[in-house]
Amino acid sequence: MFRMPETVVKHTLEEQTALAAKTVRKVRAFLHGAYRFEARYSDYPNERDVIESGGVVLSGAQLNEGTKYYVVWDYQGESGRDCWKFRGGDGFAASVCDMEESMADDLNIGMPGDLLQMAASNWAQSMYDMAANYGTYGSVVKPEEPRPEHDPDHEDYQPNYADMVAAKWNPIFERAKADEHDIECMFFHTRQGCLAPAGSCQFKHTPLREHTFSDGGFGRISAEQAYQYFMDWDSD
Ligand SMILES: [Zn+2]
Repeated sequence: MFRMPETVVKHTLEEQTALAAKTVRKVRAFLHGAYRFEARYSDYPNERDVIESGGVVLSGAQLNEGTKYYVVWDYQGESGRDCWKFRGGDGFAASVCDMEESMADDLNIGMPGDLLQMAASNWAQSMYDMAANYGTYGSVVKPEEPRPEHDPDHEDYQPNYADMVAAKWNPIFERAKADEHDIECMFFHTRQGCLAPAGSCQFKHTPLREHTFSDGGFGRISAEQAYQYFMDWDSD
């Protein structure tokens, strides 16, 4: 989990507008296939010549869990290159739920999961994982076979994080893919807020109560129950 920023980021309106425009193009590069994954030299020592002449391009399905890759995107004038460790396989869905918790508590994000903030920050690593899965499975997470523990009445209940994350995030991807303005504003829920004059922001300003956690706040509720338990114990 990333450390929470302690200070409130302040942008000017012009900075907000420019950052949002740039970030939307980055996000849509991944939704419209204007990106590629490349192997690193160190992982393909016998293919140095091939890599130097243009890279070993890999599909999302060819990525190995826990291995670092380059990712390159280029869409409508917005291009970039990053290096990250693919971890989009088993266990990724649960980490998306952790990400939502961290984003909700982050003064400079303020909501449980934000596509643009994800693309514009260190959370981009999760977006690359989601993009690889989306290209492979048509879903941001690798689908998981249902298990008995996914039944809420089971004594060892464990949420089916893959189903829950897919239910929340696949529609977010689909909407953003179809319409570049059908995306939540990346500033509206921050402590500073969106500086666009009322009614003029190009992105959605959805009330916070309508932004749900993929797991229904399961992790958060568990933590609160533990806290309550100790409070009760203390007061006895
Ligand atoms: Zn806005």
